[in-house]
Amino acid sequence: MDSNQRYETKSEWVESRLRAAIASGELRPGRVVRIQDWAKRLGVSATPVREALKGLAAAGYIRINAHRGADVARFSSNDYFEYFRLREVLDGLAVELATERTNDVARRRLHDTLESVNRELQEALVGADRPRVRMLEHRFHSAFYEACESLLLASTAEPLWRLNATLDQVVWETIVASNWSHDHIAQHRQILVEFLKGDAKKAAEAARNHKRTDMNVLAEVAARFSRDGRLIVPLSVQGFEENG
Ligand SMILES: [Zn+2]
Repeated sequence: MDSNQRYETKSEWVESRLRAAIASGELRPGRVVRIQDWAKRLGVSATPVREALKGLAAAGYIRINAHRGADVARFSSNDYFEYFRLREVLDGLAVELATERTNDVARRRLHDTLESVNRELQEALVGADRPRVRMLEHRFHSAFYEACESLLLASTAEPLWRLNATLDQVVWETIVASNWSHDHIAQHRQILVEFLKGDAKKAAEAARNHKRTDMNVLAEVAARFSRDGRLIVPLSVQGFEENG
C-alpha cells in the first residue's frame, strides 16, 4: 500500500504503515503498539516510530499513556455518533459547495457518472460484496469532496473514511441494518436530483438527511460492539461475515 507515494520523512512513512495496520484491523483498538517491535519490523530506529506515534496521537488514532505506552484508540458508541454527525456536517457542506461551484455542464457530467456509480453500488449491495460496496460508497461521496473545490474540507473529510477497522465494521453493519439496498440508494438519487437542478440548499439537506438516517440505526448497531471493537451479538443478516 502507498508504494507510489513519496514521503517527506521516515516518520511519515512509518506513520502510514501504522495507520494501514489500524485501518485493516491488524492493530485492533486497545492493542499496545510497541516501539521496538515496530522499529525492528520496519527496519528503522526507534526515533521515527516514536515520532509517528506522536503524529497518530494528534490525529486520534493512538492514545499515549504515561504508564502503558501507546495503544490504539478505542471508540465508544459516542465516538460512532460523532462520526456520523461529522459526516452529516461535512458531506452536507461538500454537496452544497459543489452545487454552487459547478456549472450546468459539469453538474450534468458528475450527475451521470454518479448515477452509474449508484447503480453499481446497488448491485454490489444485492451481492453483499463488502469491499466493492465500500469502494463505491466512498467514490460516490468523495466525488463531492473533489467537486466542492475546498482543499480544507476534502482534507478534513477524507481521513474519516479510514479511521479504524472497527469503524468500518460499524459502518457496514449500519448499512445492513438500515435496509440500505433500498433507502440508501434512493437517498443518493435524491442528492443527485437536487444537485442536477442546481439547488444547493436542497442538495445539502438531502446529503445531511442521508447521514441522519444512518444515525438513527446506529444506536442499535453500536450496542453490538464491546469496547475492544469486537462483535458481541452475532448478526443473522444474510451475506454478513464477521471477519469479512
Ligand atoms: Zn452514501
